[in-house]
Amino acid sequence: MKDLSRCVHHPAVSHEGFSSLAVPTYRASTIVYPDAESFAQRKCRGADGYSYGLHGTPTTRTLEAQLTQLHGGVRTVLVPSGQAAVTVVMLSVLLPGDRVLIPDSVYPPVRGFCANYLKPRGIDYHVYDPLVGDGIADLIDARTKLVWIESPGSGTMEVQDVPAIVRAAKAKGVLVGCDNTWASPLLFKPLAHGADFAIEALTKYVGGHSDLLLGSITVSDLDLRQRLKDTLRMVGIGVSPDEAALALRGIETMGVRLAHMGHISEDFARRLEPHPAIDRVLHPALPSCPGHEFWKRDFKGSSAVFSVVLRPGCEENLGPALTALRIFAIGASWGGTRSLIAPMAIKGDRTVNPWRSEGTVLRISIGLEDPDDLWADLTDLFAKLEREPAAKVA
Ligand SMILES: *Cc1c(COP(=O)(O)O)cnc(C)c1O
Repeated sequence: MKDLSRCVHHPAVSHEGFSSLAVPTYRASTIVYPDAESFAQRKCRGADGYSYGLHGTPTTRTLEAQLTQLHGGVRTVLVPSGQAAVTVVMLSVLLPGDRVLIPDSVYPPVRGFCANYLKPRGIDYHVYDPLVGDGIADLIDARTKLVWIESPGSGTMEVQDVPAIVRAAKAKGVLVGCDNTWASPLLFKPLAHGADFAIEALTKYVGGHSDLLLGSITVSDLDLRQRLKDTLRMVGIGVSPDEAALALRGIETMGVRLAHMGHISEDFARRLEPHPAIDRVLHPALPSCPGHEFWKRDFKGSSAVFSVVLRPGCEENLGPALTALRIFAIGASWGGTRSLIAPMAIKGDRTVNPWRSEGTVLRISIGLEDPDDLWADLTDLFAKLEREPAAKVA
């Protein structure tokens, strides 16, 4: 072999004895075959085999297998974002003429996808009250092929009665998908309650460091997995092994991060409830939260995200008060090490249950900073927002 050939032929080295705790990052587009016959037969390798980098590498398969185990499912597919996890499910099971039901509290870009992408292509959607429970049965017509659940709901935290909704949907032969991003599989397992698709924005708690975008869809049925894989193959969607490797690192510490941050979020939610600048605290662990009884019955604990509704009139200084925060950063997304806060416009996103609170909703995500620093930052913020003198703040 001459030098130019040597440059492109990596010598085979021994892997023997190389037993690393870290999952290797396998980067590949091309997969090579030992002979022409196995290349010709490559389709026979199926969805669990390796045929082309886009369709999976040992790195992405490891993360998929780990999520499958955590969810108690049969297979997981990875997609480039949490939003893609939602849309790939919808694109895989809905055809023109079909209809999907989504909760009023859904992650807003999902409503946008239904209105601006599905609807013009002849797929209808209907928005339902997240607290509908088994009343979902009355909303399922012959065209309805999928019920979407997100519990607790983005921003406003309504906890849904997942078992009741699943039972009603199953009785009518309708598939159920559940966005489980708030809870992660550590706090709630949708498949164990009969959902057909459990989706996660791995961007949040699995990634855990605000440095990757990834989503997952876990199913307990191989046919559904095939339908998802078919969609990904036809559209040409795969994920980077580097993102998967970061997620594999993040998932190792998810348990301790979530337990720590969830404990603080619950504690802060309770302590903020009586604050004069705050109208309502929206946290699934508080009895005042819509659907709290379902959280208590079905969830193993709290994650780190909750919201507060400001008392009307308390947002006059909101802009400067947020800018003055020292520990909290202003931003969307969450699940990383840094605590975040973000004002949210809820009203325009509600069509079934008009949002009656006049006050601004602030979504708060607890990170890994010292809880005393976080509390001081928050109490300074709410003291600035309160009209009465700051002395009233506990
Ligand atoms: C963040 C989020 C998503 C979207 O995740 P991306 O990876 O940012 O696309 C979907 N659902 C919920 C509930 C989320 O919080």
